[in-house]
Amino acid sequence: MATLVANGGAESPGVNSEPSNDPLKAERQQLYDEDLLLACQQLPKVELHAHLNGSVRPQTIRQILEERSQAGEAIPVTEQQLKDITVGGDRSLADCFRLFDLIHAITTTHSAISRIAAEVVRDFAAERVVYLELRTTPKARLEHGMTKESYIEAVLDGIELGLRQTSSGSSQRQEQQQQQLQEERPTGQADGRPAAAQQPGAAAQCTTHSPTRDACAATPAGPSSPPGGSKGGGPAPAVESSASAAAVADRGAGTDTGAAAVEGGGCGAAHYDGADACGVLGSGPSSGGGGGGGGGGGGANILVKLLLSIDRREDAEAALETVRLAARYKARGVVGVDLSGNPYVGSWGAWAEALAEARAAGLGVTLHAGEVYSPDETAAMLRFRPDRLGHCCCLDPQLAVALRSSAIPLELCLTSNVLTQSVPSYPEHHFAELYAAGHPVVLCTDDSGVFGTTLSREYAIAAAAFKLPVSALQQLARKSVEYTFADEQEKRRLREIMDRAFSAS
Ligand SMILES: [Zn+2]
Repeated sequence: MATLVANGGAESPGVNSEPSNDPLKAERQQLYDEDLLLACQQLPKVELHAHLNGSVRPQTIRQILEERSQAGEAIPVTEQQLKDITVGGDRSLADCFRLFDLIHAITTTHSAISRIAAEVVRDFAAERVVYLELRTTPKARLEHGMTKESYIEAVLDGIELGLRQTSSGSSQRQEQQQQQLQEERPTGQADGRPAAAQQPGAAAQCTTHSPTRDACAATPAGPSSPPGGSKGGGPAPAVESSASAAAVADRGAGTDTGAAAVEGGGCGAAHYDGADACGVLGSGPSSGGGGGGGGGGGGANILVKLLLSIDRREDAEAALETVRLAARYKARGVVGVDLSGNPYVGSWGAWAEALAEARAAGLGVTLHAGEVYSPDETAAMLRFRPDRLGHCCCLDPQLAVALRSSAIPLELCLTSNVLTQSVPSYPEHHFAELYAAGHPVVLCTDDSGVFGTTLSREYAIAAAAFKLPVSALQQLARKSVEYTFADEQEKRRLREIMDRAFSAS
C-alpha cells in the first residue's frame, strides 16, 4: 500500500466528518461520468497491486465484529462506530485508519481470513478482472493458534473458495444483482461497499486531513516513525505488515460469504463476449483440482495468484523466511514476493539477500519504492532490477531518468496516491509523464476496500484525468498481461481473452 501518514495519531472523528465543500472532492467528482465507468467495467483487466486485507469489504468488517459481539467477545468499536463503517458517503483519512485497525482486529481467525480472501476474489471477478495478483504478509499470531504457514493456507483456501464460487456462476448472478443495484440506487450501496466506492471521487476525502503531502520531503530515518506516525509502523497496527494479534484454530473457509459455495467447474457459467472461460482460464497448469489453489479454478473467470510480502520491519532472517515460504507454496499459486510496509522503517541491506534468493528460486519480485524521498534506497532498488516496482511517487530528476531507462514496469495506484497525498491530484499524477514516455505501467487499486475504489474506477479516472480514449485503456489492459508473474501459457490465454473482447467491442 502507499504511505499513509496518520493525522497525529488522532482518533477517528467519525465517518462523514469532513467538510462538504472540499474543492478536491468536487474536482474528483467531475472526473468521469457513469457511462465511462460502465465502459471500464466491461473491459477485461489485470490487477497486479492489491493488498488482501486492504481489499476487504467494509461490510464484512462490520458483520464479523457484530458476530463476535453477539458471541460475547469484546470488540474495539462502539455501536455507533460499527454502524458508521458501512455508511455511504465520504471517508476521511481517519476513517481509513480506523478501517485498517478494524481489519487488523478481525483477521484473527483462519475462517475470517478465508472469507475475506474469497470475497476479494469475487469482487475483482465482478469488476471483470481476469487476472489478479493478491499480496499479503504472512502473520504469526501464536496466541490465537495462527502460524505463518496456517495463515498462508487460510488465504489460499479462501482464494480457492472464491474461484469455485466465480466458476459456479454465482459471480455472474452477483454481477447482475450489482448492476441492478447500481441502476436502482445510483447513490447507494452495492455489494457491501459504501456509496463512496460507487461514486466518482467519493472516497477521496481521505486527503483532507493528511498532514504530509510532504512525505516526499522526508527521508527514512531508521526505525523511528515519522511525526504523526504511519500506518505501516506507527501507533496503529499495520494490517498487512503487523506480526502481533490473535487467532483461533478454526480452519476452513468462512461460512457466511454471501454467496453459495458451489463445488465443481460450472463451465458455461462465465463467458467473455461469448467465449467460454472454461477453455481460457479453467485449464491452466495451476488451475483447479486439489492442489490448484491460486490458479484459475475449474472454469473460473479469473486467474488468481498470490505474492507474499516482506514487511519492512522484518530483519534479514524474517525476510528469508518469507521468501522460503513463498517458494514452498509455489505449487498452490504463490508466484512472487513483495517488499512493503512503513517506508520510514528498515534499510535495503536487510532484505537484499532474501530478495536475491527469491529471484534465484524463480519467484517474481516487486518492491514498493519511492513512497517517500529516499534516493539511496530507490537507487539501490533500481540497481537490483526487480521485475516490477510499485508507486515511485518521490523521485528526484536523476532517479526519474534512471527509472525510465530501466524500463521496469510500474504498478500505479492513482486513488491511493492521491488519498495519501503522495501526489497532489489525479491530473498531476506521474502516470501522465510515464505513459507519455512509453514506460510500462499498470493501473492498480492498492487497497480497494479501504479507499473505496475499484479497478474499473481507476481506469475511468485515468481515462478522464489523462484524456485517454477507450482504445488506449484496452491497450493498457492488454500490455499489463506482459508484466504479470503468470507463466507463458497463462499469458497467452489472457491475451486471447483481451483480443476477443476488444475485437467484439
Ligand atoms: Zn501497496
